[in-house]
Amino acid sequence: RLVEDDHPLEDYQSGVPRWCSGCGDNAVLAAVQRLCRDENLRPEKLAFVSGIGCASRFPHYMRTYGFHGIHGRALPIAEGVKMARPDLHVFVNTGDGDCCSIGAAHWLHAIRYNMNMTVVLHDNHVYGLTKKQVSPTSPKGLKSNTTPHGAYLDAMNPLTVTLGVTNVSFVAQAVDWIPEAVYAVIRAAFHHKGFSFVRIVQRCPEFLPNMWDAWLRDPEKTLLLEHDDGISFSPGLQRIYKNRQAHDPSDIHRAREIASCIDPVPVGILFRDENVPCYEDVREAGTPRSLDMVKTGLEAELDKFT
Ligand code: SF4
Repeated sequence: RLVEDDHPLEDYQSGVPRWCSGCGDNAVLAAVQRLCRDENLRPEKLAFVSGIGCASRFPHYMRTYGFHGIHGRALPIAEGVKMARPDLHVFVNTGDGDCCSIGAAHWLHAIRYNMNMTVVLHDNHVYGLTKKQVSPTSPKGLKSNTTPHGAYLDAMNPLTVTLGVTNVSFVAQAVDWIPEAVYAVIRAAFHHKGFSFVRIVQRCPEFLPNMWDAWLRDPEKTLLLEHDDGISFSPGLQRIYKNRQAHDPSDIHRAREIASCIDPVPVGILFRDENVPCYEDVREAGTPRSLDMVKTGLEAELDKFT
């Protein structure tokens, strides 16, 4: 096929996913492949990077460039790819253990660096690949192989953590059981220039089979976030999910309030700031201005003594 041809879905598909039936990873894969087709992205211009965990098999199922890395290190690998090849669209697929535990320090600094990439946190609230241990986002009280009497700590909230870091530029959330929303938030993230952080609240039917049942049964337990220039949910979805709220994604204080809610679970863009500079651009521009100012100040001080 010529690279400039329209690409059908099959051009992005590779192999048969080995995830469990009903696993949320399948919904994310379908949304991303559809996005690539709809945007007619050239497969050789795409790179998918992952660490370790169930979701980290993602690059194997994309017929693009990919790198299945080591535990917790998806983000620094992706940053290296982006530095070497700024022309590539870089996607990161990471899990709650990979991103929020082993890779937590990389996560915080990646937000601050604000490199142009789309990061999907597949949050299934448990270590699934290694057969059920608590992760930082596991609910308090969860019995697992590492917490036979139940997890002692409250769950970490990846949205509020991300929204608390300097230079945060894009935060969104979807739930795997609403495919339209998964697609919409990942598409919005792809179009944002900067570090686009998308958390997908995912089901793990293997180890936490009933965790989100109440949310599936009751549409009132989902809150769709609406705003003029963002995601427009279809009339069909709006008929089902009547619990909707207008939200200005430039309001970080309101975004933090919404982010801390799990019942109802918010879906949509929580925060977006198009004016945060990307690290690639800042670096390309040369010496940081603030350093010039420091030098100028120091030089002025030295001048007094010479
Ligand atoms: Fe998905 Fe859970 Fe199975 Fe892993 S163990 S593939 S997260 S359902």
